[in-house]
Amino acid sequence: MRNLLVTGGAGFIGSNFVHYMLEKYADYRIVVFDKLTYAGRLENLERVSANPRFAFTQGDICDLDAVRAAIQQHNIDTIVNFAAETHVDRSIMTPDAVVRTNVNGTWALLEAAREQKLERFHQISTDEVYGAIPAPQRSKEGDPLEPRSPYSASKAGAEHLVYAYYVTYGLPVTTTRGSNNIGPFHYPEKALPLFITNAIDNIPLPLYGDGMQMRDYQYVIDHCEGIDTVLHRGALGEFYNVGTGVETHNIDMARGLLDLLGKPHSLITFVPDRAGHDRRYALDTSKLQALGWRSSHTFAQALEATVRWFVDNEEWWRPIKSGEYLDYYRRQYVER
Ligand code: NAD
Repeated sequence: MRNLLVTGGAGFIGSNFVHYMLEKYADYRIVVFDKLTYAGRLENLERVSANPRFAFTQGDICDLDAVRAAIQQHNIDTIVNFAAETHVDRSIMTPDAVVRTNVNGTWALLEAAREQKLERFHQISTDEVYGAIPAPQRSKEGDPLEPRSPYSASKAGAEHLVYAYYVTYGLPVTTTRGSNNIGPFHYPEKALPLFITNAIDNIPLPLYGDGMQMRDYQYVIDHCEGIDTVLHRGALGEFYNVGTGVETHNIDMARGLLDLLGKPHSLITFVPDRAGHDRRYALDTSKLQALGWRSSHTFAQALEATVRWFVDNEEWWRPIKSGEYLDYYRRQYVER
């Protein structure tokens, strides 16, 4: 493994992964292949843009010829696929884009990887593929997948294709299922960065339903370390959960960030719940821990680091919260 094609590397987790890998492995070259949708931002990669071991190609993962060309041009041996339409609320408004990128796009990448006999195809998946999990149960990798939103269903479909390419064609694949990430470069349509940036401006925090949904919030770098562990020590054809194993109610997440910012809890405003909103996700991460990985940030540490980053990087998020973003915000929270 030397030449990685990181698809979706201009997004939140992908860009953190690129920073992490270039720092950790002095002999790795990384090519980011990204369509630059509203969620993909070149400024997320500014820090590495002058690095001779880094290159960027704008392209759509659904475009098989473009993927083939990038693999050949850069002598790629490994694909790590982060590229996706990732927002559940948008997947409910416009499911077609989600199916196209997450399912058809993953297929095109697999096909190119098979043709060109790559050494590894790694798929980034999500804990949402398990569906809502009643307490005190925790999802294990062998559990049935019961996705309940267009987003999670498309991610489950992609996973099935990845596994099918392993069984049918012998493509060397691995898959990680990560829980909710938080950290730098998180696009402010997702709950936590939306709440932080609203709170900074004293705008109400729109909290779905009763706010008692439970999520396993992990710091993005812990997730990147988990992916790195599976890339180097994971078994082919296997799935690995990546998370802290600790759940937080969404209302406590909101109260926690308001406390850190010194803002009143009265900024929390309850809004009608998301259709089909999963109540709880919870992961058993013992399989990944057996490979030597540990999540190293508690929720409190991850929240504090994330809030600090958004306070220190207003020039990153302020321009995003305009134009197309405001149209989306109005449709999602004002006109419903
Ligand atoms: P993001 O929305 O911030 O970034 C997605 C990136 O993919 C963007 O850069 C976008 O331009 C790119 N992209 C979208 N469609 C594309 C296409 N057709 N071709 C090429 N590039 C395209 O997403 P994220 O939160 O960083 O998530 C990355 C991956 O991790 C996704 O696969 C997601 O399902 C998975 N995941 C996310 C979380 C989370 O909490 N954010 C948790 C678990 C798994």
